[in-house]
Amino acid sequence: MGIRHSTASSNTFIATPYSSHGWTIQTKQHKIHTLQTVSYPWPMEIHANAHLTSADNIVLSILAEDVDGKAHLDGREIETSKDQAAMNVLAKISDEDSDEFQSSPFSSWDEEDLNAWFRVVIVKPYVAWAERIVRRRADVVFLTHLGYYCATIIPSAFYLYYRFSWPHAACHWLLETYYAGPFTLLLHNHIHNNGLMVPKYAWLDHAFPYLLGALLGHTPNSYYYHHVKHHHVEENGPDDLSSTIRYQRDELFDFLSYLGRFLALVWIELPLYFFQRHKYALAFKSLLSEASSMAAMYWMAKYDFHPTLFVFLIPLIQMRIFMMVGNWGQHALVDEIEPNSKFRSSITLIDSQSNRHCFNDGYHTSHHLNSHRHWRDHPASFLRSKTQYQAKGALVFQNIDYFSITYRLLRKDYNRLAQRLVPIGDQVGKSHEEIVRLLKAKTRRFTEEEIATRFGKA
Ligand SMILES: [Zn+2]
Repeated sequence: MGIRHSTASSNTFIATPYSSHGWTIQTKQHKIHTLQTVSYPWPMEIHANAHLTSADNIVLSILAEDVDGKAHLDGREIETSKDQAAMNVLAKISDEDSDEFQSSPFSSWDEEDLNAWFRVVIVKPYVAWAERIVRRRADVVFLTHLGYYCATIIPSAFYLYYRFSWPHAACHWLLETYYAGPFTLLLHNHIHNNGLMVPKYAWLDHAFPYLLGALLGHTPNSYYYHHVKHHHVEENGPDDLSSTIRYQRDELFDFLSYLGRFLALVWIELPLYFFQRHKYALAFKSLLSEASSMAAMYWMAKYDFHPTLFVFLIPLIQMRIFMMVGNWGQHALVDEIEPNSKFRSSITLIDSQSNRHCFNDGYHTSHHLNSHRHWRDHPASFLRSKTQYQAKGALVFQNIDYFSITYRLLRKDYNRLAQRLVPIGDQVGKSHEEIVRLLKAKTRRFTEEEIATRFGKA
């Protein structure tokens, strides 16, 4: 049973590539601009398109098959051989020891999409060289990105100090905004894995977070202190300073309170958090990072205000806003019964912004389940654990990113969110209205009594 693949204009039916011959490395065949409409009694639209990664297309197709199968098979068990075949494909394309490993020198394009001449003459030698610098063959893309940033944002920043102009400042701001997401998720991989380079190039691991981080809105090591040493310890629970559970997550005022608290108080709240847990070195270092950064920016602003505004101040404030908008989107939908379940306190997205451009950041539940999991392994891991995701009532969305999740929630646009949900497990078969009610229940503020009960905090 295949999914009805219809082009938006012609409604032409085309067979799925795996419907009769089993799975092969045919991932490109998924890359068709189509609107797949699963014939199910509610308006679910699954968009598979050329911008999704090969892995995302496979995962999405499997989930759509599940929905389609359940609709047509009247509750009979879904065939799982396709899942196994898909997992094998995903494992092979991300297994660096496999002959079928797909390298990832760029995030915007897959290697096989590139012009043959360019691929042979430029890309292959580059990948061979870069693989000697990064620890994992799959991480060549990080070196590419560091190259982009070093070649553009650093000279641009120096030139702004040398000769400031408003058009240049505006272009610098646009470039910084464009880099903010990918760089932050690159840094996310760096802080979780204690570096990305082989020992010979450890100096690069030590240098780039300070230099590029400062230009792209991160104070020294603060992301590591806040994210690895605090957020992943508290898991959005009551002691997480960026926890969403005490806020009504579809109310603008609540979001602004959440954002305002972070912007105004994180510099002192994070050191106090570490101090109260007797982690004095972390308390001191996190306070020193913030205080020295603020002092340096104050001094730079006094020396030359306009370039400092665009090179340091706007990137810092903008990055902190972006991080809170993103964190809200990642942890706004929290299960009302089991908010401390890692399957139920965050979501999974299958979309191009989060996964293609930000190194599979959409698989946030998979990341919280194992924060050391390599970014290329998330899709295969998701499919491997699919029955657990189904049983736990995890939430999976497609064709929407975290910023859009936050935006839609704050507009209470549950209709759009329900349309973007890919139902799994018991969610399959629910009506549109039931899905809307289900989502609404997961944005409700937890009372202190509920927090005490659910999180076992007396
Ligand atoms: Zn993380």
